[in-house]
Amino acid sequence: MPLIDTLNRPLRDLRISVTDRCNFRCVYCMPKEIFGPDHQFLHRDQILTFEEITRLSRLFAAHGVQKIRLTGGEPLVRKDLPELISMLSTIPDLDLTLTTNGSLLPKHAQALKDAGLKRVTVSLDSLDNEIFKSMNDVDFPVEKVIEGMDAAAAAGLTPLKVNMVVKRGLNESSILPMARFFREKGYILRFIEYMDVGHTNGWRMDDVVPAAEIIQMINAEMPLEPTDPNYRGEVAGRWRYKDGKGEIGMIASVTQAFCRDCNRARISAEGKLYTCLFAVKGYDFRDMLRNGATDEQISRSIAQVWGQRGDRYSELRSENTTSLPKVEMSHIGG
Ligand code: SAM
Ligand code: SF4
Ligand code: SF4
Repeated sequence: MPLIDTLNRPLRDLRISVTDRCNFRCVYCMPKEIFGPDHQFLHRDQILTFEEITRLSRLFAAHGVQKIRLTGGEPLVRKDLPELISMLSTIPDLDLTLTTNGSLLPKHAQALKDAGLKRVTVSLDSLDNEIFKSMNDVDFPVEKVIEGMDAAAAAGLTPLKVNMVVKRGLNESSILPMARFFREKGYILRFIEYMDVGHTNGWRMDDVVPAAEIIQMINAEMPLEPTDPNYRGEVAGRWRYKDGKGEIGMIASVTQAFCRDCNRARISAEGKLYTCLFAVKGYDFRDMLRNGATDEQISRSIAQVWGQRGDRYSELRSENTTSLPKVEMSHIGG
């Protein structure tokens, strides 16, 4: 039986951050001024071990979780990640996937596939090197990310999805070139509205390019029509090209909140459970894991946390909520 929260939402989807570190400094996620050389990242013994992650994942799966996405920080900077994938892939009937900036995929795609990973989502915000480098802020070139995507596709980590965060004044001019390029390539491009996660990125409502505007822009050149979601609780609204040549996704978390169907929990790298991307409070499971709690006790705590959940931040978002204390995206995972 799946767990049900106070708004009647089941727990189906778990995102696990395997590290708070990253080799990029995306301006909307880990701005350099804050995440500079002096930034204190978690120490190795503060983050969950592969055994701890696997144990927790099994308990969540027993509670009805059907999908686990590994994220970060950048998940591929965590040493020996394929080892974790093989441990998780022993959990029956689990859709196991990963979100990455793609930079290390050429090196790791095959090992990830061999270990049992099913699919990947790769983030890329522009095809224009000047724009992309100004966004990742570490001078990382577009071509290398595309090389990573192609390595993943060649290894069979498909269908491949691409995440593009759109920030007003930064990369709107990349919307059409990205749509054209990935339609040809056959990868599913998903546009993400820039969100007020954390409080270091200086988010303002004016920085958000509404999904409706993006649809309009693409539709004018390549006609689109809405299509049905793949399943209840899918965050990306689906649109297909009328000529049958592929589809795109819209993650309109700011202008069209989808809290009503949100079936997702998150575990941070140090083992805190968050029931919302914008949660202020996390529930510490590392302590339980390291202090001899039994599976039954941990399982009961998961049920308790989900049972009292009533989060719907995006539906309540207003100018007042942006200043609330929130956890950083790189900490909690996307
Ligand atoms: N490092 C990996 C990556 O970039 O794909 C995984 C972690 S990242 C936090 C997960 C996703 O969150 C990425 O697609 C990223 O673009 C997106 N993201 C980060 N900050 C965001 C923000 N403020 N608003 C919307 N999406 C954001
Ligand atoms: Fe790193 Fe991903 Fe955040 Fe960019 S979005 S800084 S790649 S964690
Ligand atoms: Fe789910 Fe929270 Fe996002 Fe709403 S704001 S969709 S509850 S994570």
